[in-house]
Amino acid sequence: MDDDLCDALSRVVSARYVSRAKQNANAVDGVFKRLSSSRAMPKEPLGDDVIELMLHRLSSMDSNNFIGNVGVGEREGRTFSSLVRRRCFGMTHGIGRSGDVAAEQPKACGSSLANALCGFLARDALKLAGMRDVGKRVLVLPTATGMTLTLVLTSLKKQRGVEGRYVIWSRLDQKTCVKAVTCAGLEIVVIEPVLRGDQLETDVEAIERAIENLGSERVVAVVTSTSCFAPRACDEIEKTAKMCERLDVGHVINNAYGVQSRALCERVNKAWTVGRVDAVVQSTDKNFLVPVGGALVCCGKRNETLIDEVATNYPGRASAYASLDLFITLLSMGEKGWVRLLTERETLYEYMREELSKVAEEVGERMLETPGNPISMAMTLSCAQNVSPTMFGSMLFSRLVSGTRVVTPGETKTIGGVEFRGFGASHSAYPHTYFTAAAAIGTTHDDVDRFAAILRKTFLEFKVKAAASAAAS
Ligand SMILES: *Cc1c(COP(=O)(O)O)cnc(C)c1O
Repeated sequence: MDDDLCDALSRVVSARYVSRAKQNANAVDGVFKRLSSSRAMPKEPLGDDVIELMLHRLSSMDSNNFIGNVGVGEREGRTFSSLVRRRCFGMTHGIGRSGDVAAEQPKACGSSLANALCGFLARDALKLAGMRDVGKRVLVLPTATGMTLTLVLTSLKKQRGVEGRYVIWSRLDQKTCVKAVTCAGLEIVVIEPVLRGDQLETDVEAIERAIENLGSERVVAVVTSTSCFAPRACDEIEKTAKMCERLDVGHVINNAYGVQSRALCERVNKAWTVGRVDAVVQSTDKNFLVPVGGALVCCGKRNETLIDEVATNYPGRASAYASLDLFITLLSMGEKGWVRLLTERETLYEYMREELSKVAEEVGERMLETPGNPISMAMTLSCAQNVSPTMFGSMLFSRLVSGTRVVTPGETKTIGGVEFRGFGASHSAYPHTYFTAAAAIGTTHDDVDRFAAILRKTFLEFKVKAAASAAAS
């Protein structure tokens, strides 16, 4: 509200009321000013009303919403359904241009602003989570983790040139990880982790031998992972980063849901400080409590070129949803809310582990010792002798527990033409049957209590079934 407008309005209603209204209208401008200059999350959470005002302000900057706009092109941000229009606050132009998915869209100043601000907020959120030395640019992409890994690997392959054919991958049994490589037109070389105690750890020496055997010029990248199902531990990303630097090979870290763990973020931060890390990919839904659809690509300060290439390699414009959802969410959390969520998760991990340990002891099972995994945990299912262990998972699911994963040794699966023995365990001969659960961001104490109670009942019932089938056979 400028002074001319206030003068005009003051002739209709009292000037002092107009001046109060002006203060409030300027408060929204103030938020924009602060965000643009600080490039950081607001300290305090913003209320929905303020965020909505901001979104309408941004929307009014897009040409499809200009009063009297005449669109005669083939892409004018038109919508048939007003529901669809409202779902994106009228920001229908999406993001990017044909040359760069992060480029400003001339027809959509507001959408471009929202997207750019989201990149700043996301970068700040990563720093607050422990990735302190993140590079200048954080790319918010409208593709989930797997497809984003494909885009990153495709860009690395282009850098490597015609000789680049292979990706060396520290095995993590999640089909997407394999497909992310094969979809980029690359061949995957699987390096199985080594079993130490209960835990599966990176075979760094085997990765190095594989690079030497293939010839480093033919290896596009080593792909390591931080967040994964127990009993697999976070990869030795620091050692791998040093090795990749020494051998001149790319290094991509799959940090799918690692942002929510301070320990994992600090390891990422260390890795890009001591060695080579070309890109780190993280899921928006798994870390920030938004719907599925986006991922963040970032890197340390030493090596920032790949991120720019990923942005320019992306063919065409893109949906703004992932970025808009994250923008809204980070404003709504504020720095305080985000840091609190992260802290609560750390506490919840300890609580879940304690409660599950109690159950395990009562039912004659045990928790697998996996100190290298700060999110996921696993309990043995040694009682699954005469019944299919997967029935245990179905029983939990029918009691409304979702998210556990039962793993039986000895299953073989072929994914992307590669055969995996012991699929599910990230190891071809893991010695235990077990199930996993995750203390992920947003899980509550109540979830843990109810899970523990259902688990007790399920174990009892499962053991009865096992005994009955043993008697029958
Ligand atoms: C979730 C996950 C993926 C796949 O992610 P999408 O977001 O579904 O593409 C890949 N790797 C790991 C480690 C994951 O946790």
